[in-house]
Amino acid sequence: MSKLVIDIGGTWLRSELIAEGRVPVQEKIPSHSVLLETYVESMLQTHPDIAEVSISFAGQVDNGTIVSAPNIVVKEYNIKKYIESKYPVTVKIDNDLICALRAERTLTKTPFLALLYIGTGLGSAVLDKGCVVRGVHNLSWEIGHIPFRQAPFQCGCGKHNCLELFCSGSGLEKWYDYYGLPPMTLEVLRHTKTAEAMQIYANFKEAILYATATLITLANPEEVVLGGGIVQANPWLESEVQKEIGDYALASNLTQVTIRKSTLKNASLEGAKLL
Ligand SMILES: [Zn+2]
Repeated sequence: MSKLVIDIGGTWLRSELIAEGRVPVQEKIPSHSVLLETYVESMLQTHPDIAEVSISFAGQVDNGTIVSAPNIVVKEYNIKKYIESKYPVTVKIDNDLICALRAERTLTKTPFLALLYIGTGLGSAVLDKGCVVRGVHNLSWEIGHIPFRQAPFQCGCGKHNCLELFCSGSGLEKWYDYYGLPPMTLEVLRHTKTAEAMQIYANFKEAILYATATLITLANPEEVVLGGGIVQANPWLESEVQKEIGDYALASNLTQVTIRKSTLKNASLEGAKLL
């Protein structure tokens, strides 16, 4: 019997096929190249010994059903029911940040943990007294879609003022497009001294501080973990946030909080294994 573990984000679909006594088989493909259900079905047909499918999904998920996905094309929203009705497998699926939280909590002693992940999108998750904060439909802590500032383009969720538009890989791409700038990394952006580039970087920095301060002020965590592709590629973000967070978060909430970057290479995938 084997287990298929998938992490689907806005840019990459990563999977791991795990079976006892065998080296796990890993795969990484662009998310837009395949629909999630098509990928799962093709794996189940190629590997009929798969008994369980665990999915970390970069979007809102409630009780096995995808609710919304600003950065992923979805056709089959009721993915659990769809796959389980056709194949003799158990499907587990949860939000990618909640999966990441499961993985991060294994590395810390504190039961008061908050995650801020910057990748294609911007996400957060909160552990309070050891319990994952979920809300009535598992939709809580959608920090990427709280109002921040008006942008001249639309977010994947349909609004024009989301924090994610200023502090995410997809948001940066939209700004480069808008100003006619070539795509560039955050590292190149912060050293580019044109008025537009400086404005995009200043907004990005303001937004990451705003997001971190919101988490610290509202959730009162003991530890904040910064992660995701953009943080991994730009480890200096950790000290930038530590240096200036005092100007943004409520002082009393800041006194006993540690801000650090994630040490996990792919927390969402690791968390999906724990579903
Ligand atoms: Zn949005």
